[in-house]
Amino acid sequence: MVSLTFYGGVNEIGGNKILLEDDDTKIFLDFGMSFSQSGKYFSEFLQPRKCNCIIDFQVTDLLPSLEGVYRQDYLNYLGYPEEERSIDSVLISHAHMDHAAYIHHLRKDIPIHMSLKTHAIMKTLEETGSGTFKDLIHHTETFKVRPKKSGTGYTKIKGEDAKNKRPLKVFEYGKKYSIGSVEVVPYEVDHSLPGATAYLIYTTEGTILYTGDFRFHGYKTEATERMVEAAAEEDIVALITEGTRVDEKTGNTEKNVLETASKFISTVSGLVAVNFPARDLARLKTFHRVAQNTGRKLVLSFKHAYLLEQFSALGDGEYPPINDSQLCFYQDRKGWGLAGRDDYPQNIIEQDYYKWEREYLYRDNTINFKDIRENQEHYLLYCNYFQLNELVDIMPKHGSRYVRSVCEPFSDEMLFDERRVRNWLELFGLGEAYQIHASGHASGPEIMKMISEIQPRVIYPVHTESSAFFGERFKQAKIIEKGVQYTI
Ligand SMILES: [Zn+2]
Repeated sequence: MVSLTFYGGVNEIGGNKILLEDDDTKIFLDFGMSFSQSGKYFSEFLQPRKCNCIIDFQVTDLLPSLEGVYRQDYLNYLGYPEEERSIDSVLISHAHMDHAAYIHHLRKDIPIHMSLKTHAIMKTLEETGSGTFKDLIHHTETFKVRPKKSGTGYTKIKGEDAKNKRPLKVFEYGKKYSIGSVEVVPYEVDHSLPGATAYLIYTTEGTILYTGDFRFHGYKTEATERMVEAAAEEDIVALITEGTRVDEKTGNTEKNVLETASKFISTVSGLVAVNFPARDLARLKTFHRVAQNTGRKLVLSFKHAYLLEQFSALGDGEYPPINDSQLCFYQDRKGWGLAGRDDYPQNIIEQDYYKWEREYLYRDNTINFKDIRENQEHYLLYCNYFQLNELVDIMPKHGSRYVRSVCEPFSDEMLFDERRVRNWLELFGLGEAYQIHASGHASGPEIMKMISEIQPRVIYPVHTESSAFFGERFKQAKIIEKGVQYTI
C-alpha cells in the first residue's frame, strides 16, 4: 500500500511535513516549521524551551506525535524508552525554514537528502546562525555529562566533542537512486534561494511528483520547465504541488527587479540602503548587477561573505566571489563597537566577533560606517531590519533612499516591524521605502499550465491558503486534512 499523510503545509503557507509510505518504506518530504502555527504561541522572546526537548513543540502542535522519528538524546532526557528508527529518509526540497528547520529534532540516524546547493546554505545557517535549535547537517548530543579529566566531579559534554555529522545524501540532479521500495529522481527548480528541488518518486503504485516551492520567473526558468517536461512524460498518480500564489496573476520577474531598481537607483544622489531576503542569491545577483549598472559598490554582510564562499567552493561561478571588485563587506559594530577604531589591540577587537567572522575583519574590501559616511553616493548598502541601528553611525545625507525588496507583510508581527522600519526612514529623512520585489512562487496561470501539461490523476495542494481554488478548477484536486492518511 502507498499512502500520503500531511502533518504540515495543510491550508497554510509552509510547515511542509509529508509522510510517504510504500509498504515498509517510509519517507518524509520536508520537515519544516509552520510560521503561522508557531506565531500562534511564540514570539521573539517567548520560545519553545530546549530543556523540554520536543514537548513544547508537540503540545503546541508544531511537531506530530510519532514514534521512531525524534532525537534519542531528547527522549532519553525525558525518561522515555529507547525507540527504533521508523523513517528511512527525509527528502528536503530546499533550505527555507518552513521546509527544513525541524531537521534539528530528527534522530541522528535518519539520512537527510538534499542538493549540493541546499547543503551549502544549510552549512551557512548552522555555522552563522544564532538560534537554539539549529542542528541541520550535524547532530549535537545534548544533556550528556562526563567525568572531569581532573578526576573530581562532572562536566557537560559540549562543543566539538558533542557534534556528529548526520548521515547526509547530497545528490546530483537528474540521477535516479533508490530508497527501499521507491526510486527517486531529484530535479532542480527555480525558487527564491538556490538549490530548490522537486522530486519524482517512483512507488509501487505509480509515480508521485513533489514540487517543493518553485517559480518560472527567476534566473532558472529552464530548470523548472525541464522538471515539468520530465513529469509530463510520466503517468503521475499524485501531484503534491505548492499553491502559495495560485489565486494571483503573474507578477514581477527577477529581470523586472533588475531593470526597475537600476533605473530608480540611478536617480538617487545619496546613500541607497536595500533590504532583500538574506539567502536569496538570485536577488543578491540582481543587486550586484544593479551596483554595476549604477556605478556603486554593493555592501553585504559577513554572513553573505560566508555564504558566497560556500558557493564559490562549488565552482560553478554562478554567484560573485567575495573578492569581486563590485563587492564590499560591512563590519558592523557589536558589543564594544570597535569597528573603525585603532586605539584598541587587535585581539580585543576580535573578541567582539564570532570566530567564523574574524577572518573577514582584515580583507581589503571590508569597510565600516566611517567609509560609508564619507562617500555615501558610492554605496548600495544591504541593510536588513536588524541593522537599521547602523544608520545612526552612517547618518544618511540628504537625498538618500531605502529600497525594500522583500514581500509585503502578511502577519501582525511583520506589520509591527514594518511600522518600525517606517519610523527609522522618517528619522533619517529617507522618505517612503521604494518597493520592488519578485515572488519566490509561481503564479496561478503558471500552476494551471503546469497541471494541464502533467495531467496528474490526483492533485494534493500544499503550502497554500487557497486549496479551495484548486478544488473549484480540478475535479481531481483533494482538499487535504492534517494528519489524515490518503491511499494512492
Ligand atoms: Zn521556500
